[in-house]
Amino acid sequence: MSLSLYKKKRDFKQTAEPAGAVNTAKEKLIFVVQRHKASHLHYDFRLELNGVLKSWAVPKGPSLNPGDKRLAMMVEDHPYEYKDFKGVIPEGNYGAGIVEIWDKGTYTALKDDKDANDEKLLKAGLKSGNLKFVLKGKKLKGEFALVKIKNNYGDKDNVWLLIKHRDKYATDKKYDSEKETLKTSPINKLISKEKNLRKNDKPL
Ligand code: MN
Repeated sequence: MSLSLYKKKRDFKQTAEPAGAVNTAKEKLIFVVQRHKASHLHYDFRLELNGVLKSWAVPKGPSLNPGDKRLAMMVEDHPYEYKDFKGVIPEGNYGAGIVEIWDKGTYTALKDDKDANDEKLLKAGLKSGNLKFVLKGKKLKGEFALVKIKNNYGDKDNVWLLIKHRDKYATDKKYDSEKETLKTSPINKLISKEKNLRKNDKPL
């Protein structure tokens, strides 16, 4: 696992994002979902594995409805410290815009044998393109899977689906991650400001 692509894309003199290092502490594995308003609004879903954050960009955001299969494009590994990053990425920089933390918590591999090694199972899942895990977040709870799509998108090799498993945390109702945000969030403030600007645009 390497952070070289992450570092290559960023100028740490300009962005407050962490330059980062590989985490070697042996604590519970963490996950974070960041809501990111860049050129497009999307969610970044990150799972700690091997001391870095494996990362997927999820355009529509996660869902608790097992009927939703949310497109998740795998992107470069991010440093462990990125889990706490929120704020503004200045214009002209990679991912310029606003980042906020939408959900976070700990996670484990989904396993039958409670003594099985989580990281070992997760690594195998990542490699085979079928990653099953259990989230303990504020919003996201219970079993999920990330499943890699094979050979469906031409030469693209980074296309996965994020799917909620049917369990006591699942819902059959329509789930919209955008409705699970606070009005006071910096991104929502910016969105309503932009809406008002558009409303005030007078036709010529
Ligand atoms: Mn992003």
